[in-house]
Amino acid sequence: MAVYAMTGGATGIGAAVKTRLREEGHEVIVVDIHDADVIADLSTPEGRALAVAGIRERAPGGLDGFVPCAGLGPYVEPLSRICQVNYFAAVATTEGVKDLLAQRRGCVVMISSNSASMPGYDPQFIELLLAGDEAAACALIDTLDGQTAYGGSKLGLTRWMRRNSTAWAQAGVRLNAVAPGITRTALTDGVYQDPRFGQIMKEFGDSVPTGSIARPEQIASAVCYLLRPEADFFCGAVLFVDGGHDAMLRPDQF
Ligand code: NAD
Repeated sequence: MAVYAMTGGATGIGAAVKTRLREEGHEVIVVDIHDADVIADLSTPEGRALAVAGIRERAPGGLDGFVPCAGLGPYVEPLSRICQVNYFAAVATTEGVKDLLAQRRGCVVMISSNSASMPGYDPQFIELLLAGDEAAACALIDTLDGQTAYGGSKLGLTRWMRRNSTAWAQAGVRLNAVAPGITRTALTDGVYQDPRFGQIMKEFGDSVPTGSIARPEQIASAVCYLLRPEADFFCGAVLFVDGGHDAMLRPDQF
């Protein structure tokens, strides 16, 4: 039996990951703003500290894996909340459990998005994320738009993972990411209902090459695979699980 921790396990993709891991007999420590072992609001530094302390208390023997899955969609306001949860909370909680992961040669599966590789990001926003300047990143993103905030938060997170994967592997912790495509969850329901994004999202969903949007379980199976010992040569990888959208949209960018 392995010991895993994750954020955002109350609903959607995270709930599917939690369910699958528990069905396989593993221990899963869940952090979320509701319905979790550790209740914490990850948009604040205090909430992130609470989350890390809660995991540390429950996993004194270390962790085999960590999945920072909590996230907010592009319709959430203020937009700074998107980068606080999607980027700063994912990085802070991952850093906060690094030594627990190293103890058991564990791994991290970040939850990116196929939005991360789409055009239209703001280079300065990405630089501020990667510099760890939360105040400046939040101030800038509040002047931009939801798609730039969402896609940018996921691009920043994926670059953070790629930049750190060598040093972390040398310290005994592998970092990888799953980049889901459009998946039926509370987050996408919110996007569908938003007058600014609803129609675009519907058309995007209709254009998935394999024919339909994903169920959370289809994303969870990739996350759980990367957590398993048999995936122990994956390091710094970004696994697109998106019904072919990324390949359709940028076939030659490889
Ligand atoms: P969801 O809304 O069902 O799940 C998000 C989870 O994060 C919820 O359990 C929620 O309570 C938690 N959360 C949100 N804000 C929080 C906060 N401040 N503190 C603590 N927990 C908080 O949505 P989902 O689609 O399952 O999203 C899971 C992850 O997958 C997110 O990182 C999202 O960006 C990513 N993703 C989703 C899609 C999609 O189409 N649904 C596509 C690509 C990536």
